[in-house]
Amino acid sequence: MPQRIVIVGGGIVGVSAAYFLSHHPSSPSVTLIEASSIASGASGKAGGLLALDWHGTETASLARLSYNLHASLAELHNGRERWGYRELNTLEISCEEGAKPGNDQASTIPDWLRKDAIQSVRSLGSTSTTAQVHPRLFCEAIVQESKDLHVIIGHATKILADAEHIQGVQVETEGDTSIIGADVVVVAAGPWTTRLLPSIPISSQRAHSITIGTNTSVSPHALFTSIKMKTGSVVTPEIYPRKQEIYACGDIDNLVPLPKLAKDVSVDEVRCKDIVKNVSVVSELLEMGEVTAMQACYLPYSEIGPGPSIGWVPGLQNVVVAAGHSCWGICNGPGTGKVVSELICDARITSADIQSLDPAKYIK
Ligand SMILES: Cc1cc2nc3c(=O)[nH]c(=O)nc-3n(C[C@H](O)[C@H](O)[C@H](O)COP(=O)(O)OP(=O)(O)OC[C@H]3O[C@@H](n4cnc5c(N)ncnc54)[C@H](O)[C@@H]3O)c2cc1C
Repeated sequence: MPQRIVIVGGGIVGVSAAYFLSHHPSSPSVTLIEASSIASGASGKAGGLLALDWHGTETASLARLSYNLHASLAELHNGRERWGYRELNTLEISCEEGAKPGNDQASTIPDWLRKDAIQSVRSLGSTSTTAQVHPRLFCEAIVQESKDLHVIIGHATKILADAEHIQGVQVETEGDTSIIGADVVVVAAGPWTTRLLPSIPISSQRAHSITIGTNTSVSPHALFTSIKMKTGSVVTPEIYPRKQEIYACGDIDNLVPLPKLAKDVSVDEVRCKDIVKNVSVVSELLEMGEVTAMQACYLPYSEIGPGPSIGWVPGLQNVVVAAGHSCWGICNGPGTGKVVSELICDARITSADIQSLDPAKYIK
């Protein structure tokens, strides 16, 4: 039974692993190493939509586990208040800037949208199949609720393991280099994972998002939009209302390579302003509200297998990877943390069937 577990990465996957490992009955000592701050990457800048049954066969079981864990963690730790957990309806809407509205949709359009701009509405999910969290608040609260978790703000520069031995993780903190000893290391560094584990290919793409403050409460409707602008271009921002703000994200791009640290991600204000302009077509609240954040982050994609890579890393003694969750990391984060804790402390994953996500299937 491992006594010392070190996790690299304080995004939703790393903090969820920390939570479930620290609550495991075998009581291992758990250390989390984060280079910038908790949820400084995509886990602090994502929309936060959770979906029960929108997933492919290979991740369906993990998603079901994770969706239910989100509900039970919210119940256990007052997540409705602390991180805005709530069930919601999810709609697909289409509209055209300056065009005439559709004529039979008025009753299904949430009251904070411009009824005269929307041409069609379709339901994608109900309050029994979709929900939301505020991802950064979730991550911060889950760190607080982890048991005796030791958090180090430092940059992990090397995993000290070979095929037969594991020593730990080399970390740089404010100019000092030290080694944190470990019996097991979990690498949950999102798009940075490949920099520590070259055999695990994770690629990434940048995405911008904004938040707009609201003084009024907004109905729980997540929106997948398709908006034809006057210029002829079609844009597809996703919009997620929260307690005191509305979040919206735009397109992805490959213009700027992933920087060394999450806090150094470059933000293109023009792209953020475009998101504001685009979503203003849909809602006056969005047009008139104050922009409270313009931000960017990197989506992590596993280049092997049909979903994230979760399992022991081939060729390295006692190193686990959990990364590459693409656009479903907030939804599938808690489930990933749970299965990682089972893999390490119970030697067997029983909560979900994730066999096809095991990197050993794809890497020798
Ligand atoms: C615009 C956008 C919207 C999204 N919306 C949703 C959504 O609505 N629902 C959903 O389910 N998913 C969504 N996602 C996807 C989700 O955000 C990601 O899949 C998820 O956040 C990945 O989490 P992670 O913990 O693997 O990685 P990250 O959040 O990237 O965390 C990795 C962490 O590791 C740290 N780190 C990296 N290298 C080191 C190192 N060497 N030493 C120490 N620390 C290190 C980083 O600082 C970072 O904090 C969205 C993504 C984007 C970009």
